[in-house]
Amino acid sequence: MREDNCIFCKIANGDIPSETIYEDDTFRAILDLGPASKGHALILPKQHYSDICRLDEETAKKVLPLAAKIGNAMKQSLGCAGFNVVQNNGKEAGQTVFHFHVHLIPRYEGGPVMVSWMPGEASPEELTQTGAAIRSALQSEGHNK
Ligand code: 5GP
Ligand code: ZN
Repeated sequence: MREDNCIFCKIANGDIPSETIYEDDTFRAILDLGPASKGHALILPKQHYSDICRLDEETAKKVLPLAAKIGNAMKQSLGCAGFNVVQNNGKEAGQTVFHFHVHLIPRYEGGPVMVSWMPGEASPEELTQTGAAIRSALQSEGHNK
């Protein structure tokens, strides 16, 4: 399904032009308009899924192999030393376009690396409590399916 007011639906399906680096029946990969580094790309499914929780399994299975394929091509063509695979879900996590997408951000020798968080602290009790909460939600999710 596509969503009428979604810019990434329009780009992914070719209604709005983009610098396309890869296309198949399921995805279009494009260059980001505001690149964090040279070659910063986005993998967009052609169907609309707002985030990873809505993504269908068949599409999900194909995303990481495609990220690796494009990342390898970036290394060969741009000479980047590595790349980040980034995927934001929810406004608080930095998502600004609510159509699932994966960022591929080439990183170059001597260039900045992505600093994504400051390591914090948690007591063993807190880790146990947090772990129990997530395990319990995972178990009830299994029962709800
Ligand atoms: P998010 O913050 O949702 O994970 O990432 C959205 C990304 O989409 C940003 O990096 C932004 O620069 C990029 N972007 C937003 N609108 C457009 C557009 O119309 N075309 C392209 N190529 N990139 C876009
Ligand atoms: Zn969309």
